[in-house]
Amino acid sequence: MATAPPRAAKYPDVPNLIGGRLVSGEGIYLDVDAPADASLLSRVPLSSRTTVDDAVAAAARAFPGWAATPLKERVQVFFRYRALLERHMEELSRLVVEEHGKLPDEARAEVQKAMEVTEFACALPEIAAGEVLEVSRGIECRTDRHPVGVVASIAPFNFPVMIPNWTIPNALALGNCMVLKPSELVPLSATRLGMLLEEAGLPPGVFNIVNGGQAVVEAICDHPGIAAVSFVGSTRVAKLVYRRGTASLKRVLALGGAKNHLIVLPDADPAVSAVNIIASMAGCTGQRCMAASVLLAVTATDHVIARLVEEARRLVPGSTLGPVISRAAKERIERYIDEAEADGAEVLLDGRDVIVPGREAGFYVGPTVIDRVRPDMRIAKEEVFGPVLAIVRAGTVDEALAIENASPYGNAASVFTESGGSARYVAERASAGMIGVNIGVPVPREPFSFGGWNESKFGVGDITGHGSIEFWTRAKKITTRWNA
Ligand code: NAD
Repeated sequence: MATAPPRAAKYPDVPNLIGGRLVSGEGIYLDVDAPADASLLSRVPLSSRTTVDDAVAAAARAFPGWAATPLKERVQVFFRYRALLERHMEELSRLVVEEHGKLPDEARAEVQKAMEVTEFACALPEIAAGEVLEVSRGIECRTDRHPVGVVASIAPFNFPVMIPNWTIPNALALGNCMVLKPSELVPLSATRLGMLLEEAGLPPGVFNIVNGGQAVVEAICDHPGIAAVSFVGSTRVAKLVYRRGTASLKRVLALGGAKNHLIVLPDADPAVSAVNIIASMAGCTGQRCMAASVLLAVTATDHVIARLVEEARRLVPGSTLGPVISRAAKERIERYIDEAEADGAEVLLDGRDVIVPGREAGFYVGPTVIDRVRPDMRIAKEEVFGPVLAIVRAGTVDEALAIENASPYGNAASVFTESGGSARYVAERASAGMIGVNIGVPVPREPFSFGGWNESKFGVGDITGHGSIEFWTRAKKITTRWNA
């Protein structure tokens, strides 16, 4: 039997970035496929512990000089980095479109968000000033913030530019040196970010990239030279990283998966709600930890449901709806739909078996709305991570809240209503870290912090905004007496 000829990749093999140099990886390489048409984009090395050792050593060498650089000087790099992100917006978003499959506007939005979090880092000299107080006659206490040391950031596939930037500007501007482990599914954008940081004037070794998978993550968790680990990804891996990292006495902030509930009340504005709910469910093809997953329709909401099905029906896979990340993801999502249907749910709009002409090999799932889902079905409980909305009917707001509260996750929840009192009732009782009122994707913008509750986040603090300052620094308390 003839073997298939090796496929030619569009880009060279993905390098690691260590001590300011792009270096080839060792060992096994994994194919990086384009979700839109399954073509080969590049190959990514599955690096070993030795490469993690090299990256940590480079970061440790850079740390004393970088930590001793005043904050006001460090942030100058990030003013330039932000300008470079803006200048390279088209190039970066094209990479995101290629390796992740996002629509061009979705990709641009994540570069824009990376610029916004960088702006927060640029403002740190105004924000992160310590406290000082005369605590007794002639005695003064003050708090200084010091970097933690060499830190690591482990990223998921779904925002190749934005999520690494949730951690890079703040952690580095606050004086830490970093080893980034991008997702092996989308490693191309991260290399470009590393090069832009160098171009912005970041000293070599302050930022390093080690590509790979589980072995690199485990080496990071165990490494005695790493003081703090931030992780974003699924809850299953967040738990592993949190347990393993804290067992080796590191501070760890591990953001996990999500199952976000949207509660729709009968007085909701049908047009506003439908547009928002479908944008939340289908934006980035539902591959967002903030995506609408379960709609809790309270009593007489058929008119809103009819409107949102109309809205979802307008989405065209391959044009206004991108592919999902992999063939395995497409098959997993379609299995959830099959199972819900077999269990008696009513598929109002079916995205299975979608073929996009000209991109027949692409990993597409069409917009899917499923009604009459019961809270005990798997599709109502587990993270689907695709453009699928499960509708569960509820008799009262309290019944809807009980379903939301029973979820082990707690990233986001939203309520759609024209009543301030009802909105407040839900906002106070939903068990989630980020709440939307008539907003389907309630991402807090800078300077507010991003972070969920329950099994959507392990550790103290948040990953962006004010909440991140505590995580990326250590407070030194200095008490002084001067005799006047
Ligand atoms: P994932 O957990 O599979 O992978 C995340 C990272 O962990 C990757 O870098 C991967 O290489 C590594 N990894 C995977 N398996 C591992 C293992 N067994 N041991 C050690 N490391 C391992 O997540 P994903 O599929 O890349 O991303 C999607 C998930 O991320 C979803 O669950 C989504 O909700 C979640 N997410 C959460 C947030 C948030 O803010 N809470 C944001 C974005 C994505």
